[in-house]
Amino acid sequence: MRKMETKILKVTPSNPEIHVIKIAAEIIKEGGTVAFPTETVYGLGANALDSDAVMKIFIAKNRPADNPLIVHVSSKEEIHFLVEELPEKVELLIENFWPGPLTLILKKSKIVPNETTAGLNTVAIRMPKHEVALALIEQAGVPIAAPSANLAGKPSPTLAEHVKKDLYGRIDAIIDAGPTNIGVESTVIDMTSAVPMLLRPGGITLEQLKNILGKVELHPTVLSEKSLLVEKIPSPGMKHRHYAPNAKLIIIEGKKMEKIMNKVQEIAHEYMKEGKKVGILANNESKFMYNADVIKSAGNRNDFTEIARNLFRLLREFDEENVDVVIAEGISLKGIGLAIMNRLRKAASYNIINVD
Ligand code: AMP
Ligand code: MG
Repeated sequence: MRKMETKILKVTPSNPEIHVIKIAAEIIKEGGTVAFPTETVYGLGANALDSDAVMKIFIAKNRPADNPLIVHVSSKEEIHFLVEELPEKVELLIENFWPGPLTLILKKSKIVPNETTAGLNTVAIRMPKHEVALALIEQAGVPIAAPSANLAGKPSPTLAEHVKKDLYGRIDAIIDAGPTNIGVESTVIDMTSAVPMLLRPGGITLEQLKNILGKVELHPTVLSEKSLLVEKIPSPGMKHRHYAPNAKLIIIEGKKMEKIMNKVQEIAHEYMKEGKKVGILANNESKFMYNADVIKSAGNRNDFTEIARNLFRLLREFDEENVDVVIAEGISLKGIGLAIMNRLRKAASYNIINVD
């Protein structure tokens, strides 16, 4: 694609300078593309109601045209214009989790263009919990369609630097407000089925959703340890290669930390013997025990919030160090652990060794 001039706009995350936000909002209004921080990851935004603007997102990201976008709103009320009907259960979710990392799939209204939903008759909507995102949507005066602001297939960006690396020269502007807080993308739940179905685990946990909804079904790809051949894919994003570093990624899963660590070191040694540059994704306690070319800690072993926040940045850092192989410790599927392991397994193309 033709190289564009990308404006870098720095703002204060908690209290963004309104005159800077207005510059970005003007770009959105004119049909351009702006990357901006949300509480989950950086998103690449365009006017969700303008099909030409939305197409620019697909082009900039190299995103397959059958992978729909999430529409971001700045108030709870805005959802009414975007959907055909609002089931009572959905209102409960909105009351409890908006603004926040919960994306709702609902029947779309006529004003949402097919480009935004990749031809589906449903639309994905969420209200982010980030002052910069909210100010931008509000100033633009339109809902903003925004997938993660990375090249398709790469780990989602948690820093403006990641966006620059992937999309500089391909989009109109980047709002830099420092690191994002949660680090993995929003939870996606389909509210059009009889029993709500979790399509993608994320910042709002399955446990939190069950507390409000009672029954929640899990789409098979959420937990799958193997690449599933899913014929009817409700969330098309799930079938594409995702989050992947350049290096080969292997995950060692199991219940006992000691067994996991032994296996990590064994595999690391095998690759080092072959002359490969080996990275290990460890935790604060285990990192001192390993021998490899590059060892990085995702955080405290029991602090899944911290691990989620660091995950995508570390995958990108391993690439910067040009390692050939990364061996990562698996964690439990509790809480946000489900989202972390869902991303790691996909990033590893389901290259998993279980030591149990
Ligand atoms: P991203 O914003 O890059 O994390 O990607 C958006 C995610 O939401 C992808 O996994 C999409 O497949 C999913 N998504 C968006 N719209 C829909 C929809 N109408 N139905 C199901 N999944 C959707
Ligand atoms: Mg994405």
